[in-house]
Amino acid sequence: MLVVACIKQVPDTTQVQIDPVTNTLIRDGIPFIINPYDSHALEESLRLKDSHGFTAVALSMGPPNAEATLRKALALGVDRSILLSDRVFGGADTLSTSNVLAAAIQKLGEQEQVGIVFCGKQTIDGDTAQVGPGIAVRLGFSQLTLVDRIEKIDIAQKTIIVRRKLEGRYEIVEARLPAMITVVRELNRPRYPTVPMRLSSAKAQVECWSNEHLQLDVNSIGLKGSPTWVSRIFSPERKEGEIIGDGITDPLGAARQLLDRLIDGDMLAV
Ligand SMILES: Cc1cc2nc3c(=O)[nH]c(=O)nc-3n(C[C@H](O)[C@H](O)[C@H](O)COP(=O)(O)OP(=O)(O)OC[C@H]3O[C@@H](n4cnc5c(N)ncnc54)[C@H](O)[C@@H]3O)c2cc1C
Repeated sequence: MLVVACIKQVPDTTQVQIDPVTNTLIRDGIPFIINPYDSHALEESLRLKDSHGFTAVALSMGPPNAEATLRKALALGVDRSILLSDRVFGGADTLSTSNVLAAAIQKLGEQEQVGIVFCGKQTIDGDTAQVGPGIAVRLGFSQLTLVDRIEKIDIAQKTIIVRRKLEGRYEIVEARLPAMITVVRELNRPRYPTVPMRLSSAKAQVECWSNEHLQLDVNSIGLKGSPTWVSRIFSPERKEGEIIGDGITDPLGAARQLLDRLIDGDMLAV
């Protein structure tokens, strides 16, 4: 049974700059990393490989240089790394990104049954958290988002029990396999590649699939298949700070005023 980890190469956020004219990312000369949430997705896929004998596949859609991300996945121990790269995939929004990833997972399923697809909860550049659910809907998989613990997997019964980390509470959910799971950081601690694994991965092959492999209608992928586009990206202006109450002579009164403001503004999770 296959476990697939979807991993996206993202710019190191501290260095990101936006082109003020085109509103796109300035990609020149910036270092890239695996989206941090996806490192946890990858780690969990490797744990299932170790504990349940799953075949682990890392999957990414992106430009040719995203190969480095997939090579790192090989160094960590995945069985296969696949890069979905083609000019017709370019300029994709979340809808067409999930179309391409879902088609690739379906293709993999023709070779071996897919049991679980892991995604990060969201990316640190796009931040939409739409791609994982988009994949689940397209494949008809159970959808388990914000998972911070896998309680139990029963391969024979094809069921899984997970814990979801919601605001101020947890939720235990049982679902049928195959399932698409988006993960949060608390799920695990990602491993580091050993030196021998790093060396062997330098020679290992990252498979590259173009649209010739997937045979998707070009109107459903890339820029053509993207009904949304970014018209402007900007950081919200910060209001000047405000001193609430007199915290020096009346700390309790100031704290009360602050609390009232937070409650009025619905800013406290209960
Ligand atoms: C409206 C809109 C317009 C866009 N226009 C452009 C554009 O013109 N040009 C451009 O280059 N980009 C564009 N993007 C960004 C690009 O398409 C996004 O990277 C993509 O849509 C994924 O969305 P996200 O990063 O928000 O993923 P999220 O939904 O936050 O990601 C959730 C998880 O899905 C998985 N995942 C997401 N993307 C990938 C991937 N590519 N490969 C593997 N796994 C993945 C990861 O596990 C990730 O943790 C656009 C995005 C949006 C929303």
